[in-house]
Amino acid sequence: MDKKDLEREFHMTGGDGKTSYARNSSLQKKASDVAKHITLETLQQLYKETRPKSLGIADLGCSSGPNTLSTIKDFIKTVQVAHHREIPNQPLPEFSIFLNDLPGNDFNSIFKSLPDFHIELKRDNNNGDSPSVFIAAYPGSFYGRLFPEKTIHFVYASYSLHWLSKVPAALYDEQGKSINKGCVSICSSSSEAVSEAYYSQFKEDFSIFLRCRSKEMVAAGRMVLIILGREGPGHVDRGNSFFWELLSRSIADLVAQGETEEEKLDSYDMHFYAPSADEIEGEVNKEGSFDLERLEMLEVEKDKENVNDTSYGKAVAKTVRAVQESMLVQYFGEKILDKLFDTYSRMVDEELAKEDIRPITFVVVLRKKL
Ligand code: SAH
Repeated sequence: MDKKDLEREFHMTGGDGKTSYARNSSLQKKASDVAKHITLETLQQLYKETRPKSLGIADLGCSSGPNTLSTIKDFIKTVQVAHHREIPNQPLPEFSIFLNDLPGNDFNSIFKSLPDFHIELKRDNNNGDSPSVFIAAYPGSFYGRLFPEKTIHFVYASYSLHWLSKVPAALYDEQGKSINKGCVSICSSSSEAVSEAYYSQFKEDFSIFLRCRSKEMVAAGRMVLIILGREGPGHVDRGNSFFWELLSRSIADLVAQGETEEEKLDSYDMHFYAPSADEIEGEVNKEGSFDLERLEMLEVEKDKENVNDTSYGKAVAKTVRAVQESMLVQYFGEKILDKLFDTYSRMVDEELAKEDIRPITFVVVLRKKL
């Protein structure tokens, strides 16, 4: 699928139904909570250094669930605390909030919760001096310019940058056939050329991302990027890549049962890449507009009670479904999804019973050079 199609088609499942992202994003929420102290410390530091009268904050890949507005609320509170500590006699800054995601995102569901958001904000301030908060949506790909020059102080991107701008073109041969047969991502059976194709795409995309943001951000502005990654140089491990390996196996299971065709599995490739810490650092240094202030690895605990599920496999299956459904439907049709994700959740649980799966997340803090 090329870039233009992907920008149109890819989206998290909208609305607030059973399979929606809104109701199936607690794993992402939990992980961003683990990173929260770093995010908020960075924001406070930025405010201390720059003290702008109007603060531009962007959430890139905000999606449509409750995560974005609850994060924004934390940001506002944090700046208020820093403000009262630093310059209590001056008026609070105004907040310009820029929400971004691809055009297919269900922005309306966010907009519908704005009245409640403003009421809560007032209530949190005891109906007193609550800050002016202006919220707007900027639909489009973050692998391109989104905002006017030098308007953004703080960029936050949680669980969005492991999505590439497209499926790498190098995955297809001259006849347009995928060289990654039987796999939806980098699998243990994938050739070196497959990992190379994905890695090259990551390098191209991430450097464009940094270049665009460097134009849009003010000097000393900060970015906090929360991104799925991998522990070492090997592309195949029992971390994030293993979850996609199991998705490939689940689809193969349906092929074996005659529920879908092998060619569909062969031609389906995801636009996902989990970089290593060195790969992230390498691109930041090469692009040159940002200093890397922090790069930390987090491992989010598998605590199934918190996600209201009977097993961890089920929780993972719901999450993966909410993020992949829009793409899977186009290749395999709606009909197989229930069965596919039943199989998938069972496989995740079976594998976990054998040996742990350790998906890791990086928190990256970047500072725009002066
Ligand atoms: N930040 C939210 C959502 C994460 S899901 C949270 O932490 O819960 C990832 C989001 O990134 C999706 O909504 C997806 O549409 C968005 N996304 C992926 N690629 C994108 C791109 N190139 N430009 C903008 N948004 C993108």
